[in-house]
Amino acid sequence: MQLLQAPLPRRVEQRPATTLRHLQLVFQNPQESLNPFQTVGTAIARPLQSLLGRSAEAAQQSIAQLLQAVRLPIEYAQRLPAQLSGGERQRVAIARAIASQPELLLLDEPVSALDVSVQATVLDLLRQLRQEQGIGMVLISHDLAVVANSADWVAVLYLGQLMELTPSAELLNLPHHPYTQALLNAVPRIDETVQEIVPLQGEIPNLSQRPGGCPFHTRCPLAQAVCRTQAPDWHITAKGKQIFCHFVPESE
Ligand code: SF4
Repeated sequence: MQLLQAPLPRRVEQRPATTLRHLQLVFQNPQESLNPFQTVGTAIARPLQSLLGRSAEAAQQSIAQLLQAVRLPIEYAQRLPAQLSGGERQRVAIARAIASQPELLLLDEPVSALDVSVQATVLDLLRQLRQEQGIGMVLISHDLAVVANSADWVAVLYLGQLMELTPSAELLNLPHHPYTQALLNAVPRIDETVQEIVPLQGEIPNLSQRPGGCPFHTRCPLAQAVCRTQAPDWHITAKGKQIFCHFVPESE
């Protein structure tokens, strides 16, 4: 993926046209990310014309194909966002994002604003698009269930620092980084034993004053003196997990 090998300018207007075309975003709330005064067809036509250079006529044909790709009827091209359900709006946002045939799609909490039943269909759609069109996808989510079911690899971040990188099939298996463990502990479960959720102690530090050593040491239940002064090395497990911690717990 050529795109990932070049630095990304901070400002959108400084990014080359090819980067704008190949790096597309789907936002958390489709209600906010679609222009309420633009029809679905107009929203999808815009990247086709501005990023792929299609004529208005050619764009119309592609709109039909893109609506079909996200499993929406062609008649929806005439509708306004207010005439769609939340799941349908997010499908339109996905159609708009894939219109320029990107290499990489960044999906920022793409289903968190949707009902649970709709979440499953949108995630299924994304999985199919990934297989059919070969688009790389980075899914950002606080929901570990969504991540584990949708991704090949899971990267756990704390204060902008990568804490664990794991094949998603290994996400639930020990060993875990202590922060991953805390996230997993916070997921409500229905089972026979009532589990008490133990929250992490302390406040999230200010990002502009990130703690030295291991950034997680101010809240880590396993922290020791060395954690305050020395950043840990990466520990790689036999199953391919990479864990950023001085004291990687043993797997069972
Ligand atoms: S390095 Fe120390 S503070 Fe950081 S996660 Fe490991 S035990 Fe916790």
